Amino acid sequence: MNIAVISSGTELLKGSTVNTNVAFLGKKLLEKGLVISRIFTVGDDPKELYSAIGTALETADTLIITGGLGPTRDDLTLEAVRCFFALELELIPELEEKVTQYWLRRHTGHVPKPVMRQAYCPRGGKWFDNPNGSASGIAFETEFDNKIRHIYLLPGPPREFEPMVETSLLPALCAAIPDEYTAGFLAAGEGEFQINQKMEELFNGQDIRLAYCAGAEGTRVFLTANDKNTLADAVAAARTCIGPHALPEGGLELVPHLAAVLEAKHYKIVTAESCTGGGIGAVLTDFAGISSVFKGGAIVYSNELKHAMLGVSEETLSAHGAVSGETAFEMALGACKNLQADCSIAVTGIAGPGGGTPEKPVGTVWIAARTPEKNREKEFHFYGDRRTVRERTRANALLLLLELLEER
Ligand code: AMP
Ligand code: MG
Repeated sequence: MNIAVISSGTELLKGSTVNTNVAFLGKKLLEKGLVISRIFTVGDDPKELYSAIGTALETADTLIITGGLGPTRDDLTLEAVRCFFALELELIPELEEKVTQYWLRRHTGHVPKPVMRQAYCPRGGKWFDNPNGSASGIAFETEFDNKIRHIYLLPGPPREFEPMVETSLLPALCAAIPDEYTAGFLAAGEGEFQINQKMEELFNGQDIRLAYCAGAEGTRVFLTANDKNTLADAVAAARTCIGPHALPEGGLELVPHLAAVLEAKHYKIVTAESCTGGGIGAVLTDFAGISSVFKGGAIVYSNELKHAMLGVSEETLSAHGAVSGETAFEMALGACKNLQADCSIAVTGIAGPGGGTPEKPVGTVWIAARTPEKNREKEFHFYGDRRTVRERTRANALLLLLELLEER
């Protein structure tokens, strides 16, 4: 399956709206073992849209267009698609009713023609329900350049687009690929290159398709096979090969996994954050299920608060400095004691751009983690700007705690 995506919307070109739809879609497709081949962004201009469709179909057999399905003058997607494929549109009574009701809830009188456009679908096509808006999604098959093409049109607003991807688009795409099964997991803390090498060696000559997605918390590995048993064996082999850092199958996120591990041990966790300024707490609380294990944390940016809130001794701070294993150790210890938790993560580092010295250059970060059984402090040297250093610190802090919890 060769997939192209066109996002339409002048606001996307001006930068006033970030194109989150393609990022969301790319991630969701990868979970099914599918990768987008090309992405186009065009303004609300029928000529540009028309030309992008032509270019996309030079290689794509599946084309997804987002945006421009609404009732206003800049919503031109259906019209451009109708012209391009010489489609005949038909009024769908069910959609006519929906659009009318939608209109009457907000206005009175006759439904204007441009609004009623949202009730039309190409003859022989299908429509996708949109529970959060008036424009439905559209799916149809057509022959172009002697090949069958699958075309999907979806509305642009993310709160409409995202649920429709999950409930309508992905099932439709998966139904179009015969006998393929995909599973994935996170190789926590592992780099893409090493994982790639290991997997290529392991599956050399076998019909297992592999895809990788690297992030600060590790590399997500996706395996695709033609039958379920082959896939199950391949996932087991891949996880054994990667070792303890491989999350269970389907485990793509670090935080939910960490929460499950903590919960199984009945441990509560707190954070002590300097250079991440609460970022670890933010990452943890992004996960709705974290409340059963996460109590909160202390943001101790200054030495004064490291001492006052967590009891880091003034001698330690003056002898070793705020960015040191000794300070990180005392921060983690003080957090467990003063905030009353079984486990803690503490971070202290130089995120830059200023503040580095020859001994402790920008990117030097000490991370400490603590469980009732053990504690560990680790020094890191991250490369990159402030944002990168802080992102890598957050991820590695979670990884260090997981390492302590999972090793025997
Ligand atoms: P539409 O009328 O379908 O073109 O979508 C209109 C609304 O959705 C506007 O608020 C856009 O900024 C937003 N929108 C459209 N396309 C995207 C996209 N690709 N990513 C994020 N927001 C979008
Ligand atoms: Mg638009």
